[in-house]
Amino acid sequence: MLRTQLTLPRRVYPYRVLGMALGALAIATVLLELQAGTLLWALCVFTGVVWPQLAHLLAQRSASPFAAEQRNLIADSALAALWVPLLHFNLLPAVLLLALPAADKVNTDIPGLYRRTLLPTCVAILAGGLATGFAFAPSSSTAVVLACMPMLLIHTLAVSHGRRRLVAKVLRKNQELDLLSRTDMLTGLRSRDHWEREVARTLHEVHAGASPAVLVMIDIDGFKQANDRYGHIAGDALLRAVAALLQETLRPGDIGGRYGGDEFAVVCPATGLTEAAATAEAFRAAVETIRLPQAPDLSHSVSIGIASARPNHARIEDWVNAADAALYEAKRSGRNRMVLART
Ligand code: GH3
Ligand code: MG
Repeated sequence: MLRTQLTLPRRVYPYRVLGMALGALAIATVLLELQAGTLLWALCVFTGVVWPQLAHLLAQRSASPFAAEQRNLIADSALAALWVPLLHFNLLPAVLLLALPAADKVNTDIPGLYRRTLLPTCVAILAGGLATGFAFAPSSSTAVVLACMPMLLIHTLAVSHGRRRLVAKVLRKNQELDLLSRTDMLTGLRSRDHWEREVARTLHEVHAGASPAVLVMIDIDGFKQANDRYGHIAGDALLRAVAALLQETLRPGDIGGRYGGDEFAVVCPATGLTEAAATAEAFRAAVETIRLPQAPDLSHSVSIGIASARPNHARIEDWVNAADAALYEAKRSGRNRMVLART
């Protein structure tokens, strides 16, 4: 069961306590004018004070609090509707006693809940009407109008507050999702998708004649061996160690990402080949110093391919392929080295 379902009774409770108490205030004002008898006053106390506590108890004691709370919400509507004929259809309280519980049902976002209140609401109006002979006195006095104001104002504010909190929560979740989609969870580097968007932007700037740029592809040498000999947990630790070292080595402006598996990639905007090659070489040398507690006897290295952006790199794939070809050449010629793409 969802957490939001489990916590429904707890979330509804304060709103019901407040809503029913304010509803009872409006009801009591009409009852005073009608000079109502003890039975109606007892029902008014039940509505405003007893029912919210009883509903809470029923939901808490139930094996399924979510289902019990839905029944309570339907009962809220029926109880409020019962008062419409009992108050002789006094117009303002009648409208509020029908409209506000209906709005509450819609605001729960529970599918079909509002629809399920319709029949009990009609039955309650009919039962109350039969009990009063459908006495009809719709005019609302100033006192009744004033007594309805707290219910109307506080309900509106409470609903707005609830909606604002919901919107804030949705925004926060969207930001978290956005961050998740942009980040590689294992290494904390940019995800491939996000990194490729940076590459596209950089290539666009290069074509616009702004400045040169360099792309660096990096692949761990013999990574399968780390996995095979020490297990995937050790393999993951090596990926994290290489990624952390890459982050440390990058200059401001360089954009690193995890391209996939044991392959990393960096795009260096506004950077010449010599400068990028020096950084990449420093990184290659630093990887040799990595020692993993999980695999102490294993030495580590990376192969690197580097390519400057060229006018004939129409798409990012062309640029990545050029750096990849250089990386392949680094692997082929013995690994643990850096190769510059042929012009
Ligand atoms: P080479 O020197 O030619 O690069 O050889 P290699 O052993 O490094 O081979 P390769 O680059 O093809 O190895 C990639 C391996 O990385 C294959 C896959 O099982 C493993 N791998 C991919 N993603 C992950 C991961 O997230 N964690 C771990 N532990 N292993 C992964
Ligand atoms: Mg590899």
